[in-house]
Amino acid sequence: MVERRTVNPYVTGSSPVGGAKFLFLMLLFIFNIFYYLFFDEIRLMTKIITSIKIRRPDDCHVHFRDGNILKLIVPYTSKFFGRAIIMPNLIKPIISINQAISYRKRIIRAIPSEHLFTPLMTFYLTDMSETKIIEDGFNQKVFIACKLYLNKVTTNSKYGVSNITNLYPVFSTMERIGMPLLIHGEVTNNNIDIFDREAYFIDQIMEPIRNNFPNLKIVFEHITTKEAVQYILSNNENIVATITPQHLMFNRNHMLVNGIKPHLYCLPILKSNIHRTALREAITTDCKRFFLGTDTAPHTQNKKESACGCAGIFNAPTALAAYATVFNEMNAMENFEAFCSLNGAKFYGLPVNNGFIELKRKKIIFNNKISKDKNNLIPFLLHKNIKWEINVI
Ligand SMILES: [Zn+2]
Repeated sequence: MVERRTVNPYVTGSSPVGGAKFLFLMLLFIFNIFYYLFFDEIRLMTKIITSIKIRRPDDCHVHFRDGNILKLIVPYTSKFFGRAIIMPNLIKPIISINQAISYRKRIIRAIPSEHLFTPLMTFYLTDMSETKIIEDGFNQKVFIACKLYLNKVTTNSKYGVSNITNLYPVFSTMERIGMPLLIHGEVTNNNIDIFDREAYFIDQIMEPIRNNFPNLKIVFEHITTKEAVQYILSNNENIVATITPQHLMFNRNHMLVNGIKPHLYCLPILKSNIHRTALREAITTDCKRFFLGTDTAPHTQNKKESACGCAGIFNAPTALAAYATVFNEMNAMENFEAFCSLNGAKFYGLPVNNGFIELKRKKIIFNNKISKDKNNLIPFLLHKNIKWEINVI
């Protein structure tokens, strides 16, 4: 008769069979941990978001221009965005309260009746800017912010500031009343390479402003470099930044290799891929200090496709889809709503918008050229698959 030996599986050490079982259980345990971590990583890497509902967003940097083109382009922003910060660099810049009020009326007339949209106006700073107009306009809720361009830095900036210290009394008032300063952060010295303008601006202009006015609220607009990302992350909550879809999606090779693409030409100019990568990584952090500002800036096709082409990308029709594509590629969809709809509102001290929009992933080839008189506007991502259908819900 064979003696049956009973082994208590929970008692180990003395029995060789128990030791083997213990080893087996340990291996199983370790394998389970690796299995979970490995497949969870794969799951995160391949997480495909097919639809997302977010609160109605704000576009914190828009060029609406004026006249016929204004009527044409406003609906592309007002359809999905609840509000937009309107840049003041018209041919005649916005430097008075009355100008801003009448420009706002022209914008409001261009909004289709079914759209719920509010334009928020800005003041154009010059060497001659007076503190009283700015403070009165802010107190009357005409101006939400002031915009700083250095002289001749971009479209319609010939009235821009030539000596920043001229504006220190204005900055002092803005700091006191809590009015944000919006900055196109590029120096315009011809000796400085166009790709280095933003990095130089940080050292030469931004740092002195921040040191003199530490409580001044600043938006570093349309940042394009790793230096700007690091600058935002290493400072406090008084300085934030907007990021455009084109600087997240493209680098300078996309614009310059195999023929120049004038419809990717904008200022600040697209940078190398190191910088694009820094911007893309910035949106994956849960930092509250980056938010949506498209810098949509239309020029007609003849002015873009020219021997001396204008800077600016008309991205309003496809910007939200472009942002969603980048956030999805970076597995950062959990930050998408904050970037589009919450962070900007919080910085400007505004309530979040009522209502929501829904983005659904599907193949959509965007083929809409927009006719203007005898000319066209060529939107960002024309003839490309923009990957997301957007609806107001
Ligand atoms: Zn702009």
